[in-house]
Amino acid sequence: MTDFGKTLVEYVESRQAFERMVILNDERTGLEVSVVIHDTTLGPGLGGTRWYPFSTRVEALVDNQRLARDMTYKLALAVGEDTELAQAGVSFGGGKAVIRGQPTQDKDRRKEQLRAYAALINGLAGGFVTSVDVGTSVEDMITMKEMTKWVAGLPKEMGGSGDPSPATADGVAWGMRACLETVYDSDSFRDKTIAIQGIAGKVGSILARDLARQGAILIGSDINQAGAQEVAREVGAKLVPPDEICDQKCDVFSANALGGTLNDNTIPKLRCRITCGAANNQLWDPWRHAAMLRDRGILHAPAFWINAGGVINVAHELHPRGYSEEGAFADVKKIYDRGRMIIDISRKEGVTPYAVAIRLAEDRIRKAKRTGCPATHR
Ligand code: NAD
Repeated sequence: MTDFGKTLVEYVESRQAFERMVILNDERTGLEVSVVIHDTTLGPGLGGTRWYPFSTRVEALVDNQRLARDMTYKLALAVGEDTELAQAGVSFGGGKAVIRGQPTQDKDRRKEQLRAYAALINGLAGGFVTSVDVGTSVEDMITMKEMTKWVAGLPKEMGGSGDPSPATADGVAWGMRACLETVYDSDSFRDKTIAIQGIAGKVGSILARDLARQGAILIGSDINQAGAQEVAREVGAKLVPPDEICDQKCDVFSANALGGTLNDNTIPKLRCRITCGAANNQLWDPWRHAAMLRDRGILHAPAFWINAGGVINVAHELHPRGYSEEGAFADVKKIYDRGRMIIDISRKEGVTPYAVAIRLAEDRIRKAKRTGCPATHR
């Protein structure tokens, strides 16, 4: 079992420490929230607010810090020099917030808590911009928007970017093309067998429809059986029980459910050439399991490269000209270019794509620090 207290101390003392952490335990509303701004070299920390009943404060803080650091890497890669956003002078660092507790369903109390949280964000004076994550909703962002401008992920009717899932699924498909091209010399999905874990989910179902349209043969699993059957009927997928999806012979295994799917138990069972899906933290022990996949001859697409479509879409709300779906999806498409670069370097150097992706993100931050030109990081 993880000793979270020890992990927290080690983390704080390590070179991966963060720029700023703010904790609010608000007696009046019962809100318990932490905001971690990991790195703002490239711009304000952008990251969702997770509302989850972590059993201890330390556990919540450890998760908060890891999530914030992941956002730094994800955004350093996703909003690269070639994107419309960066060219408009907008780029982002990484941050994340965690509200500890069961999200209350009492509307008035929820609003009170969110207002207290919005006041805290105002105190960060633009150093942190938040949006939806596990446990928070678009309605929550609308409530907070009344109090703070440092909120994104609003509905399209309000000038926002709407549901990020279509952009996330689109990004996964672009990343998958880069992987297919490397392994099969063709980026076509036609007659490729793709196993989708979480096929009934927001991302999984959109991805399944897209891949089916392009001629892929689909296998799916989901613990939501009714939802899975509905999607499977529509796209002609074969459904298998959730504990059998990793054993399926396929070209691509796509994890779109929970984190930790690729681990000591599942990696030896995989019968695919590529793993590429949206699930965050899908490698249980990232460095070790990335190496284990490489040693098995499986090309693994790191999640923070692959699933950036949603955050790219959200980030476009902060484009000086306002949100444009066309502009956002043009930047999502660049996940393909990023992928080709990551895979090429990893093949040349014999290191994992995971290691390359982290290095590229860190290089970019270092370069921005050196040149003192974070906004366009040239
Ligand atoms: P979701 O909750 O809509 O979908 C997840 C699906 O996985 C659900 O249908 C659920 O029933 C299913 N599931 C849960 N446990 C399972 C299991 N053991 N086996 C098979 N299916 C299981 O979530 P989502 O928004 O589609 O996100 C999917 C993943 O992608 C998550 O890890 C999320 O963090 C990540 N992600 C999502 C977005 C986004 O824009 N939605 C962006 C980046 C990353």
